Amino acid sequence: MIGLTFDGNLLTAATLTDGGEIFAQAEQPAPGNDYREWLLSVSALIDSLRDSLSNTDRLGVALPAIIHDGAVSFSPYSVLGTANIRRDLQSALGMPVSIFGIGGCLVADACLMGAAQDANLAVGMWIGNSSHGGLALAGRLITGAHGAAANWPHLQLPAPLPQELDGRKCWCGRSGCLETFLSVSGLEGDYERVTGEWRDAGEIAAAAVNGDIVADSIIQAFEDRLGRATATLISLIDPDVIVLGGAGLQLDRLQERIPRKWPGYVQIDRSATRLATAKGGVTPVIRGAAFLAAEDTG
Ligand SMILES: [Zn+2]
Repeated sequence: MIGLTFDGNLLTAATLTDGGEIFAQAEQPAPGNDYREWLLSVSALIDSLRDSLSNTDRLGVALPAIIHDGAVSFSPYSVLGTANIRRDLQSALGMPVSIFGIGGCLVADACLMGAAQDANLAVGMWIGNSSHGGLALAGRLITGAHGAAANWPHLQLPAPLPQELDGRKCWCGRSGCLETFLSVSGLEGDYERVTGEWRDAGEIAAAAVNGDIVADSIIQAFEDRLGRATATLISLIDPDVIVLGGAGLQLDRLQERIPRKWPGYVQIDRSATRLATAKGGVTPVIRGAAFLAAEDTG
């Protein structure tokens, strides 16, 4: 199996055994604006893994986008445009390709190998350079009428505090979306607004661990917002498990702290919903894309 993902800056691909173990992995910087250059970068990356490919492999691509009818309909990255990426990648690579949203790949992986294996209803929340959702029922990915099932990042932040009504512009054209708070750039922007200094999300998290009170208060605000976001998902669809994944997040801390926020925001006294984390950065997303592609016969 083979999967690939793109986070806005970097392309990462891996070949995997049928059981989902990584066989070989490679990454490559991606050009920001030129679609043709982007396709060439994907080709170079896949070529670097050719030795570990079988001729029956179908490439699964996890994109930071809403995918509808095999094409990108919305993405924060204009390089993806609305071109028929699947068709273009197939002709560039000479192999069958399936494309999916990152959130769908995250939850699909959790259903097959992770914390959602026994779940009836599972929601995926990917928080990275951009944020994405996915939904699965009885182990099967549900994409919805527009490919936008569980598109939580573009709900408004629930129960906003006065200082949170600051009209943050979202790439989707609206303002106040959850993604403007619950993303790497949302966290970094919060830190910069408070301190006047830009630091990357990893540095902010490390500073919080090392006793920096300002950094810790920024992380606590992030956690409270994530608590409200997850509580909204529980109120709306009451999942058995919420699978949280992403880059640069302190997943252990979130897994411990977020469920404590729920009693204040949901009607259920003792939530049976589990918050699970998908560790390994983009690896679960790549694996989910590879699994979904292997099942795709379209
Ligand atoms: Zn939005």
